Amino acid sequence: MRLSRYFLPVLKETPSEAQIASHRLMLRAGMIKQATAGIYSWLPLGFKILRKLENIVHEEQVRAGHIPMLMPTLQSADLWRESGRYDDYGAEMLRITDRHGRDMLYGPTNEELITDIFRAHVGSYKDLPLTLYHIQWKFRDEVRPRFGVMRGREFFMKDGYNFDLTKEDAMHAYNRHMVSYLRTYERMGLQAIPMRADSGPIGGDDTHEFLVLAETGESEVFYDSAITDLSLGERAVDYNSWDDCAAIVKEWTTPYARTDETHDEALFNAIPEARRKTSRGIEVGQIFYFGTKYSDAMGATVQGPDGKSTPVHMGSHGIGVSRLVGAIIEASHDDKGIIWPEGVTPYHAGIVNVKQGDAEADAACEAIYASLNALGLEPLYDDRDERAGGKFATMDLIGLPWRITVGPRGLKNGVVELTCRRTGESEELPPEQAIEKLA
Ligand code: ATP
Ligand code: MG
Ligand code: MG
Ligand code: MG
Repeated sequence: MRLSRYFLPVLKETPSEAQIASHRLMLRAGMIKQATAGIYSWLPLGFKILRKLENIVHEEQVRAGHIPMLMPTLQSADLWRESGRYDDYGAEMLRITDRHGRDMLYGPTNEELITDIFRAHVGSYKDLPLTLYHIQWKFRDEVRPRFGVMRGREFFMKDGYNFDLTKEDAMHAYNRHMVSYLRTYERMGLQAIPMRADSGPIGGDDTHEFLVLAETGESEVFYDSAITDLSLGERAVDYNSWDDCAAIVKEWTTPYARTDETHDEALFNAIPEARRKTSRGIEVGQIFYFGTKYSDAMGATVQGPDGKSTPVHMGSHGIGVSRLVGAIIEASHDDKGIIWPEGVTPYHAGIVNVKQGDAEADAACEAIYASLNALGLEPLYDDRDERAGGKFATMDLIGLPWRITVGPRGLKNGVVELTCRRTGESEELPPEQAIEKLA
């Protein structure tokens, strides 16, 4: 992409309404624009990152054997009356009436809708296990929308639902989700710690939230620092294996890690003092096993091997995709701007031409731009006729991992400058070598 042809409305001033770094930086970097309280337009740069995160979520869900689909944002109130949640959900639910006077709502989550699909089409245990998911906009009329996309009213969420014959099978689904989520967050360059949590209006007993440690997080968390040493890395996981998934879940759930809702002082104090940590965290996902709560209420049954009709065991599992954009920035920025982890960066490298219009500099930039594209990388070439200082500031703000700086002085010696955004370190080297380093 050439910056002269892009739409990147960066702001010079720091917007006064933004209280935390990620919100400020997303506005300044031209990623989002507020449409109205808690509702945002995703401008091209923000949208590109949102899509990258969405793709990672899809890839990891499909890898775990879960099946993508798409449900609508608007739902009929009748289904929610069946589960009893139409009244329970309260003011967070946006209620709408259509021209025929029918009660509708903008879905805050989809347990009812998916259970309705399931009961219409599945009747035998032979069709289980089944996990369906979608990534779709949700609406919750939050009392205090704030921190930009972190607590929006309209937000983008992956939600998945497992249907199983037995509790044991449903616990495998639970474990499989935990593992696939750990992998998802790791690919995004994040450490998200699973913590025992409280189930709230979804209902049920078994639930973990995934929290990214950050001072600006809204949850208070208590954990054994041993958990922060864990990582999945490249290890192979057989998602069909109960034991494989359960072993990983055991590893991650053995060290103490809880939110304030489930915190237990006595257990916490049993951890050696040096490892006892209290901090704040951003909730980027949650998994639930809730048994037959919805299948009982809505009549989602299958015929078991013994011929008897039995309600299915279910769970639901969510990842806050749009919130993650903010969470990644909270975890990875400095005073100059965002620092994208390699796995989610909108462009792989920026090319800064310090003397636009200089025939040699222009030609060298074009050549580097073409080579990076040919390698399947996405460079962002700042080909605008602007001061070098302004170009550097923009690149630092939008946080691409690498910058290649090209100018007549370096070219005389046959070199360009390659700068790492994270460390700030630069080295001079011939253009071909700079390209090789990025490949
Ligand atoms: P919170 O405690 O932050 O209100 P929640 O527990 O109500 O979140 P869940 O029902 O568990 O949310 O939804 C799954 C995920 O969706 C959350 O883990 C979070 O990442 C994301 N999410 C929830 N509410 C919002 C929101 N208002 N804006 C952006 N993301 C959200
Ligand atoms: Mg909430
Ligand atoms: Mg919560
Ligand atoms: Mg939650």
